[in-house]
Amino acid sequence: MARYVFLGPPGAGKGTMAEMMGAAFGVRQISTGDILRAEMKAGTELGRQARQYIDNGQLVPDETVTAIVTARLADPAIAAGGFILDGFPRTVRQAELLDAALERHGLTLDRVVLFEVERELLLTRLTARRVCKACGAVFNTLFNRPRAEGVCDACGGPLIQRTDDSRSTAVERLAVYERQTAPVADYYRRRGLLTALSGAGHKDENFARLRQGLGL
Ligand SMILES: [Zn+2]
Repeated sequence: MARYVFLGPPGAGKGTMAEMMGAAFGVRQISTGDILRAEMKAGTELGRQARQYIDNGQLVPDETVTAIVTARLADPAIAAGGFILDGFPRTVRQAELLDAALERHGLTLDRVVLFEVERELLLTRLTARRVCKACGAVFNTLFNRPRAEGVCDACGGPLIQRTDDSRSTAVERLAVYERQTAPVADYYRRRGLLTALSGAGHKDENFARLRQGLGL
């Protein structure tokens, strides 16, 4: 019943590592993005609050995000079976609120893993997606290349890079991470909970390193 936080910049592969941990050990992956979307879809009170901010182009406040995530932690099955928080906490304030919530539930974190990848590789990963303009098929210049560059395997349509996957968007995402989330790693380092691992390799290699780092 291990309880982990996975931290790292966008493109570091923490979501993939959390999925692999789930598959190998049955630990529940708690992805903030997924939970927020689920709450909004279900129309819960917290989901409605979150949607108001998003619809107004604002960030969902730390208190609301933390309330949504920690409501999941109160679930006895999740508390008992262990979990990985992926993409949360994103700010030091969220980390403090999480600590308080865990304490209320009588829970503690076992380990916080920081996945480190150098900037150019992150930018390469974050800009690798290509989408077919005609049929929407998704390709990736690193892992799932089309047979002919720029051409959809399925329909022959042109492959484009979405604005979300552009270099300028990736640079901005990394800047937001450095500003908001990098201090969260220091927060946990000071508490002696942080394990920093390289996320630079292939996912199987990274997963082996993760298991070793966690003593699993
Ligand atoms: Zn296509």
